[in-house]
Amino acid sequence: MKFKAAVIREMGLAQPYAQSKPLKIEEVEVAPPAGREVLVRVRAASLCHSDPSTINGNRPRPMPMILGHEAAGGVVECGPGVNDLKAGDHVVMVFAPSCGECIACKEGHPGRCEPGQMANGAGTLLGGVRLSQNGAPVYHHVGVSAFAEYAVVNRGSLVKIDNQLPLDQAALFGCAVLTGVGAALNTARVFPGARVAVVGLGGVGLNALFGAQVAGASQIIALDVHDDKLELAKKLGATDAVNAKDADAVAKVKALTSGGVDFGFEMAGSVQAMELAYRVTRRGGTTVTAGLPHPDARWALQHVNLTAEERTVKGSYVGSCVPPRDMPRYIDLYRKGKLPVDKLMSSHLPLEQINEGFDNLASGHTVRQIITL
Ligand code: ZN
Ligand code: ZN
Repeated sequence: MKFKAAVIREMGLAQPYAQSKPLKIEEVEVAPPAGREVLVRVRAASLCHSDPSTINGNRPRPMPMILGHEAAGGVVECGPGVNDLKAGDHVVMVFAPSCGECIACKEGHPGRCEPGQMANGAGTLLGGVRLSQNGAPVYHHVGVSAFAEYAVVNRGSLVKIDNQLPLDQAALFGCAVLTGVGAALNTARVFPGARVAVVGLGGVGLNALFGAQVAGASQIIALDVHDDKLELAKKLGATDAVNAKDADAVAKVKALTSGGVDFGFEMAGSVQAMELAYRVTRRGGTTVTAGLPHPDARWALQHVNLTAEERTVKGSYVGSCVPPRDMPRYIDLYRKGKLPVDKLMSSHLPLEQINEGFDNLASGHTVRQIITL
């Protein structure tokens, strides 16, 4: 079957993307779903900050590729190994494929699935490449590839949701909500009354802010380099906001919290943000990062301070979530008004305007733009 998709052939094209057009709308062919694969009609796919890190070459991937990993749609057809989904079911896609068989999967940490991460690096599904153009392979992006009318994905990359939730809202749960809310609830285990700082207020950072609220944090300090993001965070429940460019940012957070926060979240994907998140964390506190900087990026830490202050540093991938367990919980909290993720939607775009959408994202003034298909 042939369908329309935004294809990237070359990494590192410069901004403005509206001119260099790294993503081109082309026709792509998909093989019928085999084994535990499912063909999905994509209805909504949002622009996330980890897409531009592939466009600009920070996260090198085989080319050509179809990007897009925060998405939702309807099941069209299931492979012979899938018996718990049927045509018409609504599904949210998850960017960490899980095989269900490896030690990490069996221990309840599907985000750490080794075959899944190897497939993501190689641009394949767990079972190979299913996309092509004139017989040549087109690679999969994190097992999803949703900037397209159709996607073929592994069953382990899908969570079935009820058909009442609008699909543009549902899409956000696949990356931003799982990653941000999960970082607060699963990775950090923020406790009632905790003091929290969130560095980087994109879709993931603002969801960490929501997660900290759900957990009952008493103080949530928002940090970002953009004042409009700080204003948005205050509207969404941050108790205080400090501009990360402020030379006194660390001192201000320490003054606001009598010595630092219990949990510092790095949600911007940069070494500067990581240093800031670590420095605002109190003695005995925990610094959590969900950022994905360039693989060459190194972070220097004063070793003695880690020891003498009994600090903890934790990485968080997919919010340490078990997606089929956590996503229905987070959707339920959304419906009760406790995770107002719809407030993160900045605009809706057609697939043809995807390059302009990435320019908007780079400006730092949008949270979630959603391609509707
Ligand atoms: Zn994402
Ligand atoms: Zn696995």
